[in-house]
Amino acid sequence: MSKILQAIRGMNDLLPENIATWQFIEASFRKLMTQYAYAEIRMPIVEKTELFKRSIGEVTDIVEKEMYTFDDRNGDSLTLRPEGTASCVRACLQNGLLYNQQQRLWYMGPMFRHERPQKGRYRQFQQMGVEAFGMSGPDIDVELIAMIARFWKMIGIENDVRLEINSLGTSASRTAYKSLLVEYLKQHIDKLDNDSLRRLETNPLRVLDSKNPELTAIILAAPKLLDHLDEVSAQYFKNICMQLEALNIEYVVNTSLVRGLDYYSQTVFEWVTDTLGAQGTVCAGGRYDGLVEQLGGKETTAIGFAMGVERLALMVEQSDNHIKPNNPDIYVIIAGDKARQFMFPLIESVRGTQPDISILVNCDGGSFKSQMKRADKSGATYVFIAGDDEVAENKVCVKNLRENEKQQKINKDELIEFIKNNFTN
Ligand code: ATP
Ligand code: MG
Repeated sequence: MSKILQAIRGMNDLLPENIATWQFIEASFRKLMTQYAYAEIRMPIVEKTELFKRSIGEVTDIVEKEMYTFDDRNGDSLTLRPEGTASCVRACLQNGLLYNQQQRLWYMGPMFRHERPQKGRYRQFQQMGVEAFGMSGPDIDVELIAMIARFWKMIGIENDVRLEINSLGTSASRTAYKSLLVEYLKQHIDKLDNDSLRRLETNPLRVLDSKNPELTAIILAAPKLLDHLDEVSAQYFKNICMQLEALNIEYVVNTSLVRGLDYYSQTVFEWVTDTLGAQGTVCAGGRYDGLVEQLGGKETTAIGFAMGVERLALMVEQSDNHIKPNNPDIYVIIAGDKARQFMFPLIESVRGTQPDISILVNCDGGSFKSQMKRADKSGATYVFIAGDDEVAENKVCVKNLRENEKQQKINKDELIEFIKNNFTN
């Protein structure tokens, strides 16, 4: 026998036994998007490497060490998308969706980052995201946050997440602040790690984003960008906080929240949880007014967020919200050729008139006992049985597998009525 090949580390199969939670999360998100009138967009999984370098920023974790980059057969450098925003902006520009228009868009799909795999951190993972273009805020910022807050309620994890927000101000206020920060960090230069030392020169704000616990105290005591905002940015941030309060959405201001990507400005936010250990961020986003121009478009205001589905699935599985598995409603047991000729057309007509009922028909025969075992294992609520006797009587034998009801024989013509009365979905 030849060796069974394994999947790539950090790229997981999602098996039928776990799929119901994912489908629940994805269906809830689709519903949410319809509620807020956002339109779906689907982008390719592979883009030119340059797109991510130019948008995410050269001096970021993603571009420095996490991208899956390879040369195409004709020598072009391509990258498996590590996130959706850059691709979404590229798609909008290329297809003329941004010129003099507002857009509210959403997407879901796999992203790829070469990270160390662990619980809640994988090399292929799924994001659901939103990007809104052409609205300068702060009302749209609040809409996004309110929409996310509603989503937590839909999937039943609202008590396990909290909102952290911050403002990065305009790039002018950041430039002034950067020199203050560099001056401060230089006083602690002997304690900085290699990444931070490098970033001190290239992109000092990024030092605040460090996950090294030895730097926590230094970062906490650093001068705060929020204290050095220009007047307009400060007012903008205050306005958001007021609107969140009016909506009863609790938040914490986290002054060291800078987000790991270069393109953000003004509002940034993360939703975090304590229930997943180290991988605590389940949703992250912010305003990125400069990105469209940076990628060759006209100046366009924009804001977006993305959430990681694996982390949400872990949370939903840990919660009291039990997701119903996708079991069939009915399992059909057939004994013999005559019964098959009798049942197949009957079941097809049920499928025609009762499209919401899920019916699993036993194939490949087997003894009555083994078919019964399969019926039980399938999780079906009812089993329909047909053998020579039933065919002769023009009836189907019906038994509830989950509740102690008497087995009964139903006339072929009354079967649909029986299904209507016993299944309400
Ligand atoms: P982290 O701080 O955990 O590395 P990030 O800031 O790199 O996250 P973003 O780029 O903001 O993450 O992506 C948004 C969301 O996507 C995250 O909040 C998380 O839920 C999810 N996510 C990011 N990277 C991964 C990964 N490698 N595996 C699983 N989910 C991920
Ligand atoms: Mg990361």
